[in-house]
Amino acid sequence: MASGESGHLKSASHAARIETPHSNRADLYNLRRMLPYLWTYRGRVLIALSCLIVAKVATVGVPLVLKRIVDALDTPGQQALALPLALLLAYGGLRMTTSLFNELRDSLFARVRFGAMHGLSHQVLEHLHVLSLSYHLERRTGQITRDLERGARSVANIVNNMVFSILPTIAEFALVAVILLSQYAAQFTLVTFAAVFVYIIFTFSVTNWRMHHRHEMNALDSQANSQAIDSLLNYETVKYFNNEQHEIERYHETLKQWEDAAVNSATTMSMLNFGQGAIVACGVTAIMILAAQGVSSGEMSLGDLVLVNAMMLQLFMPLNTLGIMYRQLRYSLADMDLVYQLLDTPPQIQDSPAAQELRVVRPHVRFTDVEFCYEANRPTLKDISFEIQPGQKVAVVGPSGAGKSTLARLLFRFYDINNGAILIDGQDISACTQDSLRRCIGIVPQDTVLFNDTILYNILYARPEASRAEVEHAARLADIHDFICSLPAGYDSVVGERGLKLSGGEKQRMAIARVILKQASIVVFDEATSSLDSRSEGAILQALGKLAKSTTTLVIAHRLSTIVDADSILVMEHGRIVERGRHAELLIKKGLYSHLWALQQEERTIEKITESRQY
Ligand code: ATP
Repeated sequence: MASGESGHLKSASHAARIETPHSNRADLYNLRRMLPYLWTYRGRVLIALSCLIVAKVATVGVPLVLKRIVDALDTPGQQALALPLALLLAYGGLRMTTSLFNELRDSLFARVRFGAMHGLSHQVLEHLHVLSLSYHLERRTGQITRDLERGARSVANIVNNMVFSILPTIAEFALVAVILLSQYAAQFTLVTFAAVFVYIIFTFSVTNWRMHHRHEMNALDSQANSQAIDSLLNYETVKYFNNEQHEIERYHETLKQWEDAAVNSATTMSMLNFGQGAIVACGVTAIMILAAQGVSSGEMSLGDLVLVNAMMLQLFMPLNTLGIMYRQLRYSLADMDLVYQLLDTPPQIQDSPAAQELRVVRPHVRFTDVEFCYEANRPTLKDISFEIQPGQKVAVVGPSGAGKSTLARLLFRFYDINNGAILIDGQDISACTQDSLRRCIGIVPQDTVLFNDTILYNILYARPEASRAEVEHAARLADIHDFICSLPAGYDSVVGERGLKLSGGEKQRMAIARVILKQASIVVFDEATSSLDSRSEGAILQALGKLAKSTTTLVIAHRLSTIVDADSILVMEHGRIVERGRHAELLIKKGLYSHLWALQQEERTIEKITESRQY
């Protein structure tokens, strides 16, 4: 099974429809949402706008001076050497003023542009962290990073366009119209207006027509990125199943579609550019015909002809940029739409307005008649009631998929329950802030994923203000200090992407060190020693035993040998607690627990024989 084209191995992203949701109303709404970025820097925006006005006035002044120069030189009997020096200097001065104030405007506005990029990226990452676990289980990392990057670029484009395109161009247009109307026959203004009108209508309608190519390009670009990142994150899985070709084919297919959309976009862009050029050419030709008639009939001077021509070209220059800006604005708004959709996604788990800080004096945990389902009509937990007294250790065992880890996720409030209540020290966790709740619980998860940073960074993550001595103490308790010291870079060794440079057992010990350092009053061990051999497990269990004395502990265990000393053992099956009691009591019952115990005793005997051969 190698080729993506064979059709059996179709992924969700492959089958995903390229959606191009967009409307002018959404554009306007998104545009309004940008205003706060400008408002934050309103002083700067005002000064930049003033610079822009000075530059525009100087620009419009250039053809006026040029007309005077041509007329001065064209005066019969004028000596070639008697140059209109003042006018020539004014011409140069005006050009320099345009350039100076344009650059001043840009440098002043740089802070606004980059500030907006910073603000939006910050806001999006913050929101991504607020979104619930269920959102993150469904997301595609590559797609989000791509949308985020494009969104940041677009916000800069949009604030730029808002300030420097539409309004100033209209102002320049009005200025030119006033000059034309006041100095020349009405038909000059009429032709100019007509050309500009046709130009604007043409630009806007063609731009709107070709927008879907851009949307398609974006969606395919994100999809390709997400596929590439996913295949790299699953590097080992790809190799295990010899599916390199499949991954490359899948990427290639998406890129092929992207390429087609990009080519369509570029071709229609050329059509647009040519159409604009043709309208400008027609307008300028008509104006030149009128002006030439005026000169030959003696109503206009040569300088007037030069002025009208220069004005006309000057007017179309910003109009040209107006077209580009409009295009950019629409593209950027399309990109921003994705970011705003993300920002508008509400987190499933939210603090209630009256949420209180969770105050834990006695770390007592109680689940009362808890019912929960991840998906409607598929109950995961039914009728779950139990309590853990402060300092007690309660274990949960049962077959795979029984709902054990779900208990931990609910305790952390990654999901809200459908019925019942979860109380910590008498306070309902749904009425407490998520922040205060999570601060008081530590967990050693089933799969430990580490940051691609140093060992020190990863352990310190639990409590950044902890001292080096505390970190080492935690590492010793977790039986990993000696291993760390044996590495060439010691605590400064980098653990690789997701901690892949460490073995499963080492990662698990890192997680244990981390939770020891957190000093939480409630600790959950979700199969915390499943990747360890019996000897390491023994050492760690001792350490955990010491830790557990001062904390309330929920242990989810596969290996029953690790929980024989638990104060209470809950046996779960199909989302229900089917047995409960201490180890000895459960063995006497001869139910599911004693059956599991007997099975594991057999496994352990075999394991011990194998280990004794190895050592
Ligand atoms: P194991 O011992 O294999 O880790 P477990 O008892 O811890 O299993 P849970 O992880 O709690 O089992 O899962 C309980 C059930 O809920 C399983 O059937 C699982 O498929 C389902 N489940 C878990 N997470 C989700 C999710 N995010 N969306 C939908 N169903 C889920």
